[in-house]
Amino acid sequence: MISIIFPAYNEQDNLDALYQRLINAIASLDQESFEFIFVDDCSTDRTPSILKALRQKDSRVKVIRFARNCGGHAAIAAGLRYAQGDCAVALAADLQDPPEVIAKLLEVWHQGVKIVWAARSQRKGESLSVRSFSRVYYWLVNLLTDVKMPALGVDVFLVDRVVIEAFKQMPEKHTSIYMALAWLGFPQKTIEYVKEPRHQGRSNWSLAKKLKLMTDSLLAFSDVLVRYISIFGLLTAFAGFTYAGWIIFRYFVFGIPGQGWSSLIVAVFVLGGIQMMMLGVLGEYVWRTFDESRKRPRFVIEYTIGL
Ligand code: UDP
Ligand code: MG
Repeated sequence: MISIIFPAYNEQDNLDALYQRLINAIASLDQESFEFIFVDDCSTDRTPSILKALRQKDSRVKVIRFARNCGGHAAIAAGLRYAQGDCAVALAADLQDPPEVIAKLLEVWHQGVKIVWAARSQRKGESLSVRSFSRVYYWLVNLLTDVKMPALGVDVFLVDRVVIEAFKQMPEKHTSIYMALAWLGFPQKTIEYVKEPRHQGRSNWSLAKKLKLMTDSLLAFSDVLVRYISIFGLLTAFAGFTYAGWIIFRYFVFGIPGQGWSSLIVAVFVLGGIQMMMLGVLGEYVWRTFDESRKRPRFVIEYTIGL
């Protein structure tokens, strides 16, 4: 069996169209059996009742409803936890990721690849700022961490059962689940697809959420920030001492008295800023350590249907 996972948050106007397109897309794959796991991330619109209606119509539809909005990554993690398939595919519920890509992913999986990424060769209907942010994100991730991701960016993936089981052993919350999967290793391969514009509604992926994901990704998979903090501090202190030496030297050798209120203020602001930045990085780590140590679940489930 193959599990298809859809995180869905307020997608009332997309679900019926999505279901129809999904059924058409997999019609040619009649030798495979499917389950469709919709993870309702505590939607406040008619998403729950539409999902129940789909379930009435088709017993392959299964539902997980969160008790609070936990985010798309947590929704995919829940889908993977409950998936019963020999492999699982995750797609957005707004039809941006065309269900036709499932067949292509399965083809590569049948060749023995355990993780198949579908990278966005093109993104229709996304603004330049959205695309640029994504490029910077993947560039930083590949530059600063040991985890290598497709530079075009991924939203869609297929993972084999062995990968799902390995992923379930990773309890951490403050992470990108795409990076967590890539980190696991296993034979991986990337195919390309065209990301379509949103069918209805608007994106819930705010700048604040993106920044949180970027911080999570860099802190969870790289020690670069912490290591460079001390080198940076050392270099700054060295520069300060050198300059102090130069002023003293000038005073005793050339008799020039030290002066310059503005240069003093510049130094205070620059050093103050650098110190606050460094404390901020440490704070991010301390806060994450604290939060993980509380062992609160990544998601809270209100009910499941069919699982
Ligand atoms: N999503 C979710 N929880 C959230 C926000 C989004 O489950 O808090 C789902 C959403 O329903 C969609 C997918 O995650 O299926 C991608 O979200 P969205 O379209 O808002 O993001 P974008 O396409 O702009 O990256
Ligand atoms: Mg979307």
